Amino acid sequence: MEDFLWFKDITKDFGATRAVDNVSLTVRRGEIFSLLGPSGCGKTTLLRMLAGFEAPDTGRIILENQDITDLPPNLRRVNTIFQNYALFPHMTVRENIAFGLKVAKKPKAIIAAEVDRMLAMIQMQDHADKRPAQISGGQKQRVAIARALVLKPNVLLLDEPLAALDLKLRQKMLLELSLIHDEVGITFIYVTHDQGEAMSISDRIAVMNNGRIEQIGTPAEIYEAPKSSFVAAFIGDTNFFDGRITEVLDPEYCRISVPDLPDMLCFNDKKLAKGDLVHLSIRPEKFQISLDPPHAGVKYNVLRGVVEDIIYQGDHTRYWVNVGEDWNISISRQHTRFMLDEKPINWHDKVFISWFADDGFMLERYSEKDEELLPTPPQTVGESDAPLEDESDEQEPEAENRP
Ligand code: ATP
Repeated sequence: MEDFLWFKDITKDFGATRAVDNVSLTVRRGEIFSLLGPSGCGKTTLLRMLAGFEAPDTGRIILENQDITDLPPNLRRVNTIFQNYALFPHMTVRENIAFGLKVAKKPKAIIAAEVDRMLAMIQMQDHADKRPAQISGGQKQRVAIARALVLKPNVLLLDEPLAALDLKLRQKMLLELSLIHDEVGITFIYVTHDQGEAMSISDRIAVMNNGRIEQIGTPAEIYEAPKSSFVAAFIGDTNFFDGRITEVLDPEYCRISVPDLPDMLCFNDKKLAKGDLVHLSIRPEKFQISLDPPHAGVKYNVLRGVVEDIIYQGDHTRYWVNVGEDWNISISRQHTRFMLDEKPINWHDKVFISWFADDGFMLERYSEKDEELLPTPPQTVGESDAPLEDESDEQEPEAENRP
């Protein structure tokens, strides 16, 4: 896919509030690109500048080699679908879809043909003569999409388009949006604060925070290799461990001391040195949990703990395992043959938890201000005031690290 939309050094202030802070990013032709971040991070402002409803204070927006920064909205081949759909209540579905073409003074026969094509695409032929009040939320959403697409924009902007729908309908509409995108093949820019929505629909995601881009990548890159602790905590759940490197085993691996826990073996992706401080993120599903000792191999960590809490969620169970002092590690265990093969793990069971040294990510620590923006502030293990010690041989619970 070729690059075709550029935001270059864009900054936008509203009084004392910096809504967008020196953002540069490139969108490729035909992709679904999401702007994802907590409320107030600047994603709508960025979208509105692309649509022409706001002007940047500094920076340029280039669409298909044309500088559109100063172009009025009606001269940009960019259409927006808003959260509330903004359908005309007194017009039928057909008239709503035809509206833009009528304003553009297209011939009647072309309008009729284009509207019929759109009605077929959104499967609303049987509802063409109804007014918005007579159709469901999901159907209104589809009409809003058709009304925007009939004008053949180069880019379709979707500003929290599913926010007004219930969960089941949101999941259905996400699938429909992907199918429509495959059919029309144009670029979608999708604004949302819902990481699940962004993960399921996007080719690439820009995670925003405080007006800045934290990371751009595919859903898998952002989830599996977050570049900041903010991204790690905003996209899915994670466990953080604060510690210090006690030994560099080879350039690739190191041993970390975390207060109140046994030493851990870790992939040294940042090539840190002995004595360096580490903020480590490990996702809940990276841990294995078992009643029996695991068959730990090389580059593996094993901890002992006690189950403090369990939530059964059908396809997986979430466990909180106390591994020392007040620290609980969150673990997600996927079920394959729950009733048949899996030994039940109950409250207060003594368990083993284990994980590969490569499953942790060393990140910088997010600020207290960032923490307020996170959906559920993750628990950080090792925040105790006690000084970090180099050795932790005598600490409980037991550990078996096998480099
Ligand atoms: P949400 O998900 O809540 O819509 P967002 O990420 O889209 O949030 P923006 O709407 O872009 O965030 O707002 C970014 C910041 O700019 C916020 O602090 C907001 O209060 C401020 N802001 C946005 N528009 C205006 C405006 N017209 N006047 C003053 N401040 C504004």
